[in-house]
Amino acid sequence: MDCLFCAIINGDIPSNKVYEDDKILAFRDINPQAPVHVLVIPKTHIPSVDGINEENSSVIAHIFETIPKIAKSEGLTSGYRVVSNCGDHACQSVKHLHFHILGGSQMLDRMA
Ligand code: AMP
Repeated sequence: MDCLFCAIINGDIPSNKVYEDDKILAFRDINPQAPVHVLVIPKTHIPSVDGINEENSSVIAHIFETIPKIAKSEGLTSGYRVVSNCGDHACQSVKHLHFHILGGSQMLDRMA
């Protein structure tokens, strides 16, 4: 399968890792949109939020258990935003489920 984030998981494409365990990987976004911009991905290929189901949802719980630890290690003591773009209307550009952690400065209260 031709998937950019699977290639990052496999080490075929380099990334700036901030966290890794046997189930998930977190790395810095190559085009940061905030002072801290980290992507958190499952190591299993799930195309988007739309692909989450009863069989694979335990990794999502694990991601959300780990996000606060990553935020703490990144110094995001004043808050942060977690975003997952799903599908064309949301401008999802990489079809491997990922959660953006954005923080490090005051954000606008508008979401879209
Ligand atoms: P999305 O538009 O929600 O699908 O987000 C995909 C994100 O992946 C974008 O913010 C890109 O900047 C980021 N991205 C694309 N290629 C790489 C890469 N090689 N390393 C790190 N981040 C990347």
